[in-house]
Amino acid sequence: MFPIINHTDAAAQDWDMVIAGSSFAAMFFLRGLPEGLRVLVVEKGPLLLDAPIRASRDRGLEEFAQDNRSDHRKLWVAHSVFGGNSNCWWGQTPRFHPSDFELFERYGQAAPWPLDYGTLEPYYSEVEALMGIAGGDSDHLLPRSSPFPFPAHQVSRSDAACIAAQPEYWVPCPTARSNGADRGQCCANAICDRCPVDAKYTILNGFSAFDRPDVWLLPETELWDVQFAGRQTRAVTIRDTSGALVEIPTRAVGLGANGIFNAAILLRSGLEHAALGRFLHEQGSDTHEIDIAHEGYFGGTTITAHCYGAYDGPHRREAGAVLMETLNAPASIRLEPGRWTDRMHIKFIAEDIPQAENRIELARDGSAQVIWHGHHDYVAAGLAHAAEILPRLLPFEIEGWARGPRSLTEAHIQGTHRMGTDPNSAVTDAQSRVHGYDGLYALGAGNFPTSSPANPTLTLAALSLMAGRSLAS
Ligand SMILES: Cc1cc2nc3c(=O)[nH]c(=O)nc-3n(C[C@H](O)[C@H](O)[C@H](O)COP(=O)(O)OP(=O)(O)OC[C@H]3O[C@@H](n4cnc5c(N)ncnc54)[C@H](O)[C@@H]3O)c2cc1C
Repeated sequence: MFPIINHTDAAAQDWDMVIAGSSFAAMFFLRGLPEGLRVLVVEKGPLLLDAPIRASRDRGLEEFAQDNRSDHRKLWVAHSVFGGNSNCWWGQTPRFHPSDFELFERYGQAAPWPLDYGTLEPYYSEVEALMGIAGGDSDHLLPRSSPFPFPAHQVSRSDAACIAAQPEYWVPCPTARSNGADRGQCCANAICDRCPVDAKYTILNGFSAFDRPDVWLLPETELWDVQFAGRQTRAVTIRDTSGALVEIPTRAVGLGANGIFNAAILLRSGLEHAALGRFLHEQGSDTHEIDIAHEGYFGGTTITAHCYGAYDGPHRREAGAVLMETLNAPASIRLEPGRWTDRMHIKFIAEDIPQAENRIELARDGSAQVIWHGHHDYVAAGLAHAAEILPRLLPFEIEGWARGPRSLTEAHIQGTHRMGTDPNSAVTDAQSRVHGYDGLYALGAGNFPTSSPANPTLTLAALSLMAGRSLAS
């Protein structure tokens, strides 16, 4: 673990880089930085090493002030603790589809990305190797330069039949729930947020990839704002648990505090940009229990397959791409004798169109406040499109279909400092550098100009690694 430093000693030094946060965005950025830099990691939450974090009741769950103007309950989930949400994520690791980086160019929706799939591909491969991802047989959808580090988990029996019937759409799910990595083997218990066998990749169990000389940790300390000399980063202000503020000199800053807190830090720092804090978004989802004339659940891992049949296509002019996940556990059992497992439990995850009115504002005390007007109609249209075509994607007779409610959250905080080549419409560039400022990086899914239906973490980690590497060039 990094050596711990106190506020007084940290303030007495001139740092090359101060990083806010210690989760995916922060640590993969650190991993990419050139050697020889003196780095201070400022982490708002505690470092919990003695008490296993999965057993700890208080993992620093944040309560966000939210003015929800939609007709749907909405939650945003973040934990302030060393390793952030890496401690509780579920380890779903699909790459974005190549079309996700071209939604604007192909379908006239949302805003353009400043990079394409091919540019990010080597970083995807590197992050997958570091996380020990298990996966396979998806190269035709998501081209790769190197094989998956570990083979895919065994899929359920209904997945296997779907893959055999339509391999162009159905693939085993790539995941950071171990299938051979040097962690426990996934046991498909469906309590992944507190994985009892440490099968899931976390920043703590993968820490050796980030450990390096000349990095110090300041835990239980909030990075409050960034100070500039003209447009050059010169210091950060940190705040301890008592609220005391201390200035720490630094030449550069990497904000890896997630989209909500990154935006709050930049707003408190006095940055003015029409897109800053805006375009907060995430996917919308619902779940389906489909009774089929075929056996379903079987060992493997918690979520076993992905279906891309409702993902890319001309429908994206009006309706969001949908990624379908088949849930293997917890089992949803049919009640007829002898038919218990003849069911598929499928989650539809639809991409959203980021909207400017969904935003972060600062409350009077400087804390982040979410203003939420709801998802774009694109989400509902995407979910409806997926439900319409699902029967064509299943090689079984459908005997029953129960649709669950729309989810309250995907726990994906995206938007708020979107990237792009045009400094007038985008806050950051392709390397996560804030346009117009020297030495200021805003990392993570806050950079996403479009949502993709795919889970964000692999992509945000790859973008952060690329951003760190850019300092060497
Ligand atoms: C239950 C759950 C399941 C999930 N499952 C998946 C999944 O299967 N696949 C997937 O792709 N994604 C999943 N996610 C989302 C995933 O966890 C996030 O995308 C990811 O953690 C974001 O990484 P991050 O580094 O940007 O931010 P975070 O993980 O949110 O970490 C932010 C870090 O910054 C620190 N911090 C905050 N404010 C400050 C400040 N002012 N100063 C200093 N430090 C600060 C925090 O303490 C924390 O360490 C899941 C999330 C949850 C909650």
